[in-house]
Amino acid sequence: MTPTNAASVRPGDAEERAEVVVIGTGAGGAVVAAELAEAGIDVVLLEEGDHPDRVAPEAPPLVRIGALYRDGGMTGTIGNTFIPVPLGRTVGGTTTVNSGTCWRTPEEVLLRWEREFGIPSLAGGGLAPEYERIEKAIGAAPVPEEILGPGARLVRRGAEVMGLHTTPLTRNAIDCRGTGVCAFGCPRRAKQSTDVSFVPRAIRAGARLHVRARVDRVLMEGGRASGVVATRLDERDRPIGTLRVRAPRVVVAAGALLTPGLLAASGLAPRGSEVGLHLRIHPASRVVALFDETVRAWEGVPQSLQVRDFEGEGIVLQGIWVPPQLLAPTLPGAGPEHEKRMAAVARMASFGALISDASEGRVRTIAGRAAPWYRMNTADVRKMQRAISLLSRIYFAAGAREVYPGVRQMPVLHSVAEAEAIEQLRLRASDFELMAFHPMGTARMGGDAARSVVDPAGRLRGAPGVYVADASLFPTSSRLNPQLTIMALAARIARGMIDEAAAARAW
Ligand SMILES: Cc1cc2nc3c(=O)[nH]c(=O)nc-3n(C[C@H](O)[C@H](O)[C@H](O)COP(=O)(O)OP(=O)(O)OC[C@H]3O[C@@H](n4cnc5c(N)ncnc54)[C@H](O)[C@@H]3O)c2cc1C
Ligand code: SF4
Repeated sequence: MTPTNAASVRPGDAEERAEVVVIGTGAGGAVVAAELAEAGIDVVLLEEGDHPDRVAPEAPPLVRIGALYRDGGMTGTIGNTFIPVPLGRTVGGTTTVNSGTCWRTPEEVLLRWEREFGIPSLAGGGLAPEYERIEKAIGAAPVPEEILGPGARLVRRGAEVMGLHTTPLTRNAIDCRGTGVCAFGCPRRAKQSTDVSFVPRAIRAGARLHVRARVDRVLMEGGRASGVVATRLDERDRPIGTLRVRAPRVVVAAGALLTPGLLAASGLAPRGSEVGLHLRIHPASRVVALFDETVRAWEGVPQSLQVRDFEGEGIVLQGIWVPPQLLAPTLPGAGPEHEKRMAAVARMASFGALISDASEGRVRTIAGRAAPWYRMNTADVRKMQRAISLLSRIYFAAGAREVYPGVRQMPVLHSVAEAEAIEQLRLRASDFELMAFHPMGTARMGGDAARSVVDPAGRLRGAPGVYVADASLFPTSSRLNPQLTIMALAARIARGMIDEAAAARAW
């Protein structure tokens, strides 16, 4: 288990001092904490969740979801449809439950962030040093052929028939055995999520981690950050005291759905500010296919392969598989028909489609809870139709007998013609089975004070000593899976803080 400060779980009030307090141990927070601690800075790291090791590796998926995800995995956006957006709430944040895919943000997107939003040195290799360091630290490498999994091989077969290209995904797993349960926390600690990589590094370098410490407010004194106050929680999330950390620098890395609320609760989201706006989520869907042959799609890495031929249209197809108990409610039919389908689960495969969204939402806080609102616009609905249609066609090309596209009007497809017809339907967002895994953009970074919440060094505007270092920073959709870029930006922000400390000789 990752070492922790034992005092953090004893009842009562406590107070500590540090040079920097970091809120959140996910992709952003853990990287900042490790970088600062390794530079000799005194860091306290606060995490609302508990260690992932507190739940048995062999516990059923639903039990692990209850322990490792926020609100049992039931977080999501409301708007023109409900879109589940699950979030990790554990040491490692959402990286602990993610699929491990690591992509650099495409060059055109970085160029846009540089030119349109005034963030220097991203494109043309500007962010490459940070990417390289992070990739090395988390062992990012293409998925080896032998653990690609039978579901991915079927998609590759269909894609080849259609003249499309597939590539194994780059993932941050070392000695991965393809056990297929990444989304419930890797039982082998093969996946180099931040609970395995950067949090232990931070602690080895002297950072103190407090788990079950939910930060309520960033404290400001004389117009500058002076620390945070957190509620300490027992294992049933009941308050057992407060923890006050006095620190002249506070890094907020609670994730794109929670950072805005924390800033607002701290009086750091003044009226008219952009805090909480510009939410993007990468809406995603899943297509399931039934084959005559045995597939055993649970074998191998669930997200191991991708099709990027349609990236220019804002569509990326990537692997996904969930265990039968989670698949069951999404399969069409009821009674004996559904039973028959479930009995054939060993002959099923599934794959995901995610779209780079032009739609924007926002996060408000209602009764102390994040209330994200997101309306999927018509252009994104059309993109999703096309993505699902393409994936269904790939499955038929691979020899599928039936395809379940997750579209209300056409729950079961029997032919390529039906798969093509999906593109012609007049669908609404609520006609799909949607999910989203990449919330971003709610405290965006930029050079223009009127259009950004955070400056290019990660400093929250109008709040000296407060930094933001998580997915909130992204000015637009990153188009691909975001964790690597969150980590790279966090590393850059930490480097700026270290340089600042060195210039001042001491903080
Ligand atoms: C199932 C799933 C699969 C995914 N797969 C991939 C993938 O393959 N590749 C990829 O790039 N991305 C993937 N993602 C997304 C990726 O994991 C996230 O984008 C990334 O982890 C976000 O980093 P973050 O630092 O912004 O927030 P998080 O990683 O969510 O970390 C925020 C942390 O802050 C803590 N926190 C929040 N509020 C407080 C508070 N008030 N006090 C104390 N602590 C607090 C939270 O508990 C959490 O631990 C996936 C997501 C999911 C849900
Ligand atoms: S496939 Fe299994 S071993 Fe590999 S990263 Fe996922 S959970 Fe860990």
